[in-house]
Amino acid sequence: MIERYAEVAGEKAITEIVALAQDLQDLRILHVNSTYHGGGVAGMLRSLVPLMDAVGLEAHWTLLFGDPLVFATTKALHNALQGEEAELDEVGLKAYLETNRFFAAYAPISHDVVIIHDPQPLPSITFRRKRELWIWRCHIDLSSPNEQVWRLLKPYILRYDAAVVSAEGFRRAGLPRLTTVIPPAIDPFSPINRELSPEEIEAKLSQYGIPLDKPLLVQVSRFDKWKDPLGVLEVYRRVRERADCRLVMLGNMAGDDPEGPEIFARVEERARSLPDVHLVTETDELLVNALQRAAAVVLQLSIREGFGLTVSEALWKGTPVVATAVGGIPLQIRDGENGFLVGSRDYAAAADRILSLLHDPRLRDRMGEAGREHVRRNFLITRLLRDWLELLREFF
Ligand code: UDP
Repeated sequence: MIERYAEVAGEKAITEIVALAQDLQDLRILHVNSTYHGGGVAGMLRSLVPLMDAVGLEAHWTLLFGDPLVFATTKALHNALQGEEAELDEVGLKAYLETNRFFAAYAPISHDVVIIHDPQPLPSITFRRKRELWIWRCHIDLSSPNEQVWRLLKPYILRYDAAVVSAEGFRRAGLPRLTTVIPPAIDPFSPINRELSPEEIEAKLSQYGIPLDKPLLVQVSRFDKWKDPLGVLEVYRRVRERADCRLVMLGNMAGDDPEGPEIFARVEERARSLPDVHLVTETDELLVNALQRAAAVVLQLSIREGFGLTVSEALWKGTPVVATAVGGIPLQIRDGENGFLVGSRDYAAAADRILSLLHDPRLRDRMGEAGREHVRRNFLITRLLRDWLELLREFF
């Protein structure tokens, strides 16, 4: 299974991975998050867990199950870690801790390493006698967390042996001394990223009633305020004053993100006054793939962003991206080379950049090509696997 990746990552990369895994054979790893579907973490685990197995580790993946109150609380914690005012109540926090206590007591943990993803299962570490190596893998943009919530979570975080964050700018006091930066990555063979023929692309778009008669602008993101969906509409409004095109916003609902429906309703309302806007909430990974390939320009106008896998996904498909220079996005976009970076909420600049790409197919091709190569070198799942193996080898 791993050999297949030589085709995109090169033979040398695969040989090195296999060699690194030699000392880690049969190491038992448990990944814990809180959803199998929706959002970048679940998507990445779907590829990373089988690949860890494929190179001889024994990797498992389990979920912390939460009820709506728990997920409302963990989303509030997530929002606060990204800098928002915290709206937490005692009842929600108690339910959050209870759910973690239950998980720690009854989850089948008999592993050498437990990797906890994000804040949902974070406190479980405090509710068991710790015999394993515990790593907190935080996918959130920690550039300016709400201090009150950071203080609340710090005692749990500091119990971990190590932490992993997505970008240098997310290191901060309160993380374990051993905190490593490992940017996320995409799987070139997953349904979201695999090659598609022009016929497959057309068929997929026509299934959703999206014509290819005008250039497409696309943002693929959960309907989440941090992805600034209303800002995307504002940028589109400005672009439409000067060029004909369509906008597609695709966002499914993640099981552990309760804010989606409310945000979607606001976007739907605002979109009514604009022509040629397609809003899709279906879960369909081949549609993600087809849209990222068919788009003239992909947008990612996040206000905060842990990494933004959608950026690498689009670049891998040779599509230039206009995105905000926040969180992990500047790792992926070299401004002016494979896309354009703009300031957060700078709608005028975003519209200008999109227009310059819409008017210049050669620029789009050049940037697309540079984007694919940048992702091939830096953001394929083989690099992610390698980084994990290197980190684990520091302990075993
Ligand atoms: N995604 C998807 N369907 C959607 C919206 C998003 O499959 O309707 C995928 C997207 O292609 C990417 C992941 O979900 O692989 C989102 O990851 P990202 O890092 O961009 O954002 P997150 O949701 O984790 O904040």
